[in-house]
Amino acid sequence: MSTAPYLPSAAEVLLADGTTAFIRPLGPRDRAAALDLHEVRMSEASRRMRFFGVSRTAPQIAADRLCGPPRPGFLALGAWAGGELIGEADYEAGAGREDTAELALSVADAWQHRGVATLLVEHLLHAARERGVHVVEADTLAGNRAVHQVFSDLGLPVRRKLEQGEIRVRVPLDEADERYREAVDERGRTADVASLAALLRPRSVAVVGASRRPGSVGRTVLTKIREGGFTGPAWAVNPRAGTVAGEPAYPSVAGLPGVPDLAVIAVPPAAVAGAAEECGRAGVRALVVLTSGLDAAVARRLVHACRSHSMRLVGPNSLGIAQTDPAVRLDAEFGGAFPLPGTAGVAAQSGGVGIALIERLTWLGIGVSGFVSLGDKYDVSGNDLLQWWESDGLTDLVLLHLESFGNPRAFARTARRVTRRLPVLTVDAGRSAAGRRGAASHTAAAATPTVTRETLFRQAGITAARSIAELVETAALLHSQPLPGTRGTVAVVSNAGGIGILAADACAEAGLLLPTLPADLAADLLGLLPAGASATNPVDTTAAADPAEVRGCIDALARSRAVDALLVCLVPTALTVDAGHDPVRALLDAPARREIPMAAVLVSQEVPVRYLPCADGDLLPVYADSRAAARAFAHARDRARWLAEPPARDAVATGTDPDAARRIADDPLTARPGGGWLDPDATSRLLACYGLPLTTSLWARDEHTAVLAARSLCRTGHDGRVAVKAYWPGQVHKSVEGAVRTGLAGDDEVRAVYRDFTEHFGDRMAGVVVQPMAAPGLELLAGVVKDHVFGPLVVLGLGGTATDVLDDRSARLAPLTERDLTTMVTELRSAPLLLGRPGREPVDLAAVERMLAALSRLATDLPQLAEADLNPVTARSDGLVCVDARIRLEPPPVFDPYLRRLRRLPGTDVPEDEER
Ligand code: ADP
Ligand code: MG
Repeated sequence: MSTAPYLPSAAEVLLADGTTAFIRPLGPRDRAAALDLHEVRMSEASRRMRFFGVSRTAPQIAADRLCGPPRPGFLALGAWAGGELIGEADYEAGAGREDTAELALSVADAWQHRGVATLLVEHLLHAARERGVHVVEADTLAGNRAVHQVFSDLGLPVRRKLEQGEIRVRVPLDEADERYREAVDERGRTADVASLAALLRPRSVAVVGASRRPGSVGRTVLTKIREGGFTGPAWAVNPRAGTVAGEPAYPSVAGLPGVPDLAVIAVPPAAVAGAAEECGRAGVRALVVLTSGLDAAVARRLVHACRSHSMRLVGPNSLGIAQTDPAVRLDAEFGGAFPLPGTAGVAAQSGGVGIALIERLTWLGIGVSGFVSLGDKYDVSGNDLLQWWESDGLTDLVLLHLESFGNPRAFARTARRVTRRLPVLTVDAGRSAAGRRGAASHTAAAATPTVTRETLFRQAGITAARSIAELVETAALLHSQPLPGTRGTVAVVSNAGGIGILAADACAEAGLLLPTLPADLAADLLGLLPAGASATNPVDTTAAADPAEVRGCIDALARSRAVDALLVCLVPTALTVDAGHDPVRALLDAPARREIPMAAVLVSQEVPVRYLPCADGDLLPVYADSRAAARAFAHARDRARWLAEPPARDAVATGTDPDAARRIADDPLTARPGGGWLDPDATSRLLACYGLPLTTSLWARDEHTAVLAARSLCRTGHDGRVAVKAYWPGQVHKSVEGAVRTGLAGDDEVRAVYRDFTEHFGDRMAGVVVQPMAAPGLELLAGVVKDHVFGPLVVLGLGGTATDVLDDRSARLAPLTERDLTTMVTELRSAPLLLGRPGREPVDLAAVERMLAALSRLATDLPQLAEADLNPVTARSDGLVCVDARIRLEPPPVFDPYLRRLRRLPGTDVPEDEER
């Protein structure tokens, strides 16, 4: 167990009712606060529960114990709100049994039942686990129901034993599983949604900085709020104007006739922090900051004001928010027109993209339930809004535009849950390096690289479009039509052969299938259609078909279930138009919704997509281009597949020894706190802890040892041969530098290579690694890379020395699920090489899956792992052998990415003193 004092930075957290609190370790300067907590803020009854009696000195003893200088095996975390210590949780490891610790807990009476204890315990247990504690125990009085509730709610397996009126609670920390994560998520969601109500369902609003000048941002927003029909009072705050827009203005927030739930701030940059502080003191619960261009000091004070007064914050650099819910009707943005009330939730980091989305959703008729221009995202993020829309009762479709992710792992977990209930669509912004540069400079957030972002979206079930147009086109289909089946089959029907063929091409290019129709169905169709029609797929009705005939054909196809989706392409022709038959009537007179989703293509249409209102009032999406329709179908099929997959469980790696691994990984970090590459010996030992298949690698510092090593290994080597590799710290590409010799047999060859190496590399060489030659097979690459934003990714690909040229890799965020283990193999371009084909056996796929599961476990167990690179792993039908592995460590991040905490302003580190 490490004895270094544990000093996490402060974490900002949300209590169950949405109040903000801080959690940070207690120290000597907190003694007075700790005494106050136990003596004044806790009733005698609470003290009795806590101290098992009524000793007068108990509070003082507790304060001394909690607020001493840091010591090994002990940690006390305090929760602070409004500058007061409202609760405390601590653990103390037992003497001689350092993996078991005793937990104690106090919460001020006024703060009970608000989730303080649960959050404290969550953070404390996390810290305890980080410090090598495996079991936490606590003695509680049988009557202390509140504490028992805390333990039951944790989601961890809790064992209880009753001993003379006291209950001994025992929590094994290593058994934290999916259930624990879900419990943490659920608590986070409740607190989050509660804290967002003031922002998204405010009963009153103030615009701070509403000026008299027409056209100014503040005045525009104020006017829009009033004219948009906001259901509560909207006050103007302006110290220098008696009236704004014809109504009285107030000199300060404190002087308003009531306390606004929400304040919209449109003051100059230097005044933002002061305005926020004023709002906080007056009791405002949420801010939307429209101002941009804040300098770091103002930004810091703004965040500080929000945290210390429990205000949620949208922006800065936001265009505002809009809520169309008739009970709210809030139009507090200065971008566009009030959106059509509807069912899409829109959150955009760039205000411009948001406005564009709203305009199109309004025009199309889907409408908007809520819009939030996130701006620089100091606090409220896409993640918060997903949770809100998941349960607001209005939203059935979410459109996100995100250039960066504050907490990608939390986002992925939330999105994975929300996408099971509603479609969540996004524009994949910042795909290219050039795009990322733009994103970084314009929203003060480094956009994350594409591989990881695509991975994130796919793992979270999010539909990622490549442009705003594609996003809207896809939304149009998902909003109006049922989901297709998972096969991805389509029937194309057209009244002009050439158009049908183009549509068929578009479908194939989007990855959809156009199966030949079953013979009986084809015969039925031919019976319905004029002579000359063809009922292969695409179906050609001929230009002579009248609306009734086209419709009969559509209905027969929809009923047959021969395909998952239907694409109908119509062109008005002289034949039909002269006969007074507009072919589009075939679409209008029938219901828009059938058993399978349907879309139409009208080549002559000017807008990219619109809805045709059909007979039953339902909407049929009509596209100008069959490629757009085909892409939308492909996205819908992907969503259907995502929903059809049962939620996957985390992959299980067996036979691992994380404790031994941690010891190996802690050592070099103690010696070299900055981290670096592990030496070959530590690399072998670490991989062995996870059963990763590194071949026997013997380490030799002199020629004689190398020869002995080679002798002992040649029997296991392919063809009786060995490989010898020179090693020196910091080496990168051994073969490029001539440090790898393979296929050696006999003492003389090994000796010659050793001498060669010494001559060549001189003192630089620390020694050699001797390995048996691996039998030839398929060279793969496997490993872990850490993205600074997303955390660890497990990677599998085609390996060997040409791996960069081949560039065939698949990646998933750790932890991998059971399903990832298979899809990572099957989605490689080179999958056929692994899966086998006639005349060629598949490689040992079970061993590949075991390796991936082990890497996932390695990545999650060791937060200090920066990179693991196994290349090559030679795969054969009889197993895997890795002949080259490299591992790099770096100091671990202090907090668990799953832990519930609010985001910290990028680039600033609020000093602890200020955090209270
Ligand atoms: P590096 O990747 O640093 O250049 P490697 O140890 O991966 O060095 O060796 C380069 C190549 O040599 C490997 O891709 C593999 O083809 C071959 N090789 C190395 N060691 C062995 C071995 N023990 N058995 C078979 N082939 C090997
Ligand atoms: Mg290699």
